[in-house]
Amino acid sequence: MLSMNRRKPEQNQLARAIYLDYHATTPCDTRVLNAMLPYFIEKFGNPSSSLHPCGQEAAEAVEKARMQISGIMGAMPEEIIFTAGATESNNLALQGFARAYRGKRNEIVTTPIEHKSVLNVCHELGYTIKLLPVDRTGLVDLESARKVITNRTLVVSVQAANNEIGTLQPIPQIVEMAHDRGAVVHCDAAQAVGKIPVNVRMWGIDLLSVSSHKLYGPKGVGALFINDGPHSFPLKPLLIGGGQEHNLRSGTLNVPGIVGFGEACAISSKELPKEASHISSLRDLFEENLYSQIDNMQINGAISNRLPGNSSLTFPRIEAEAMIVNMPQLILSTGSACASGAPEPSHVLLAIGLSREDAYSTIRVGLGRFTTRSEVEQASSIISEAVSSFSALN
Ligand code: PMP
Repeated sequence: MLSMNRRKPEQNQLARAIYLDYHATTPCDTRVLNAMLPYFIEKFGNPSSSLHPCGQEAAEAVEKARMQISGIMGAMPEEIIFTAGATESNNLALQGFARAYRGKRNEIVTTPIEHKSVLNVCHELGYTIKLLPVDRTGLVDLESARKVITNRTLVVSVQAANNEIGTLQPIPQIVEMAHDRGAVVHCDAAQAVGKIPVNVRMWGIDLLSVSSHKLYGPKGVGALFINDGPHSFPLKPLLIGGGQEHNLRSGTLNVPGIVGFGEACAISSKELPKEASHISSLRDLFEENLYSQIDNMQINGAISNRLPGNSSLTFPRIEAEAMIVNMPQLILSTGSACASGAPEPSHVLLAIGLSREDAYSTIRVGLGRFTTRSEVEQASSIISEAVSSFSALN
């Protein structure tokens, strides 16, 4: 029988469920956890305690991680500042730069499909906010961008990959355009790093945000890349205190988290090409299975230019939330995790032109490192059955 109420899953039900929400977060890889464990008890030093070996050992571990994290994006270790995640990195980049800047530029340019940790911050800064138009697939329209970015633009903030529809943006072209007009470019790469090749030098980016828990590392740790290092941009810190991280991020460093983040980057750097093609072939199989069984399904985002594990699907006239409640074997989401539970439909889906009804009829599927072919086969048949039950009801 179809139910419309959210039920709390039993513990063993959760353990057996198929996890398809890799955009919200990823499980910590056991190799990452093993790298972290010694830094809770045996190697617990404070990396700022530079006078004794206990502190020095922790500082060495932090610097090794800084190298691993810079490596995955083609940066130098001294260009990496540790934060508590991409939300903080986005805040430090945008608030930090806009509040430190003293000059005549009074515009910030971004897109309507950014994460709320970019969009909501931009609206707090007292600058004029201009949005770059995106097309039906979420791709920034470069012709319009030429007119929107001007010599009054202080910073252009564009994500590398979208967390709902997976669309990848043409970052190097946007950077070139922005630099021609003297603007700085920030990129929220929380969904991109570890999933697609990211190279800050090839992209020419100035500031770039990363998050550990999106690439099989622990939660609560992230980084901000600053081109040419912390002193190359005026950035006003969000936290004032002991002056860690070149005064940009005071607070004792989260050593186990940073070590895990570093290991996660080292693993992803090595495995990315093989992993990305494996995951995208599973995603294609998943969508082909659904296509063959469901008449009226729409795939959102840029089909051949999206994250390997992303599948955003609209089933017109079926309420996505009710469908999800009726598929307790699957763990997936309707929109971004941060927005789930909110009464408003996803701002991303509305911005690419979906009606409110279609936005409410959309599920977000995210496949990842531990997804198996058998899970994909099961998930596609469970979804097909749910769609046909709901269609029969309609
Ligand atoms: N930006 C994007 C594109 C994201 O998907 C997320 C996570 N939902 C964030 C920023 C925020 O990252 P964190 O959870 O590390 O704060």
